[in-house]
Amino acid sequence: MNKPKIWLSSPHMGGKEQEFVKEAFDTNWVAPLGPNVDGLEKDLEQYTGAKQAAALSSGTSAIHLALIMLGVKAGDYVLCQSFTFSASANPIAYQGAIPVFIDSEKDTWNMSPEYLEKAILACMDGSVESRIQIPDSRQEILKARKPKAIIPVHLYGVPAKMDEIMAIAAKYDIPVIEDAAEALGATINGKACGTFGQLGVLSFNGNKIITTSGGGALISDDEAMIKQSRFLATQARDNAPHYQHSHIGYNYRMSNITAGIGRGQMLVLNDRVAQRRYNYEFYKKALAGYAGISFVAELPGAFANRWLTCILVDPSKTNGKTREDIRIALEKENIECRPLWKPMHLQPVFAGAPFYGDGTSEKLFEDGLCLPSGSNLTDEDLNRVVDAIKAVLN
Ligand SMILES: *Cc1c(COP(=O)(O)O)cnc(C)c1O
Repeated sequence: MNKPKIWLSSPHMGGKEQEFVKEAFDTNWVAPLGPNVDGLEKDLEQYTGAKQAAALSSGTSAIHLALIMLGVKAGDYVLCQSFTFSASANPIAYQGAIPVFIDSEKDTWNMSPEYLEKAILACMDGSVESRIQIPDSRQEILKARKPKAIIPVHLYGVPAKMDEIMAIAAKYDIPVIEDAAEALGATINGKACGTFGQLGVLSFNGNKIITTSGGGALISDDEAMIKQSRFLATQARDNAPHYQHSHIGYNYRMSNITAGIGRGQMLVLNDRVAQRRYNYEFYKKALAGYAGISFVAELPGAFANRWLTCILVDPSKTNGKTREDIRIALEKENIECRPLWKPMHLQPVFAGAPFYGDGTSEKLFEDGLCLPSGSNLTDEDLNRVVDAIKAVLN
């Protein structure tokens, strides 16, 4: 007999979502745009403190629009954290631009300021070209130039070293797109993740801390950029009685139905953050006696939403037990878990892209495991996970 499945991060409705959706049905706002979309945008502005939010069809579309807003074109360099989900980097390729991947530092597992600066200098002096593999037919786009954008990520909801990253960005005058897709509810000195860069990206995909089943948002204090993003996301329709277009448009806006789910979820966001942080504390306490198991800490001033709790397994301190031993043992117990993100510079699809780093993200990928972290887990669930881990280590 199989034990009940424990999921990594499953949706957790608060109860009011269906009321917002019902209202959309009752008023026949079953359409892209509508009062729920406007309402969710207001909620996001209030919650994050950003002046403007555009609700969109996904976090990926938000990153794509952000790159377009910053004028990223074919052949431009865009510096991107390597240790992330592929959606951080794919839109760079949509624009025909060249991703330059930056390693993580060990404190937050996010973008290393040291390698960020090295990569900026390599783009500016042209030495980056020796690390790029592109077809001969595209060689002529390569030339020494300043990168067009920097994409740091707050991975697993743990804030990146934004002070240092923003200082380097300011020194070279390069705009920052902050990928806060995993970090809604996380802050640095009380300021929301996603509001440090020129543009911030949020996601409401099914596995995120709150969900609309699928969706995302672009946030910024730059009202003109958000206004333009909404315009491009709505097929770039010029103001005319007929369909008139002077820009290439996209169908990237959120529907009024999914936005209704989002409005309900915003009502419980703080509870979700509290529960995810509780999961982290639970695991940390339960595994404190095991020298080979470690966690990523919050830097002073940082408040993580602990979207996923992750452990590192050091086989030199666990009698040779590895991340894989634990992963396979949990799987056998019907407990879903997953290795940390595989860095982008190791992905076949980005094989020709340059990388600056020292192996930190590769090591994280090798030794790291994401544990079940949903806000709907019970103590009983958490104990089952802990017991299964202990059974491997003891
Ligand atoms: C989920 C995620 C995205 C993309 O969001 P979608 O809404 O799924 O398109 C981007 N970056 C990171 C780091 C993510 O985890």
